[in-house]
Amino acid sequence: MTGFPWRVGQGVDVHRFTEGDHVVLCGVKIPHDRGVLAHSDGDVALHALCDALLGALALGDIGQHFPDTDERWRGADSRVLLRRVVSLVSERGFAVGNVDMTLLAERPRISPWLSAMQAAVAEDLGVERDAVSIKATTSEKLGYVGRQEGLMAMAVVLLARHL
Ligand code: MG
Repeated sequence: MTGFPWRVGQGVDVHRFTEGDHVVLCGVKIPHDRGVLAHSDGDVALHALCDALLGALALGDIGQHFPDTDERWRGADSRVLLRRVVSLVSERGFAVGNVDMTLLAERPRISPWLSAMQAAVAEDLGVERDAVSIKATTSEKLGYVGRQEGLMAMAVVLLARHL
């Protein structure tokens, strides 16, 4: 470990839409006329957040920790994965300072669910709600998000070493 008491990490995830009736974002089930193709519950937001947390400590990525060849993670609740990653962070002597996330979706509309998402993420990270920022935007009908082929999420985290 370097001598600095802070670590920064970033994560990105994309999932393709498929047939279904809901998506899960930050642990919140949102009704939609499509679902998400994934081995787990396909929560792009929590997958990006897990990658950011792992990245901050150079611990690899979510695919290494929870491989999609492992039946244990089939249909997994990504909040369970997130809590396991938070345990790894804690074992290494670090705590979450804050997180900032951006979700990209043309549809469904995400803003009505942001408050519930913030509460879920704060609970799993063991931080106050004001340490969790979740923003949502469309991509102005451009690209795969704009064509409603899938969802994308980005996350940045700051970790601080325990005193
Ligand atoms: Mg993923």
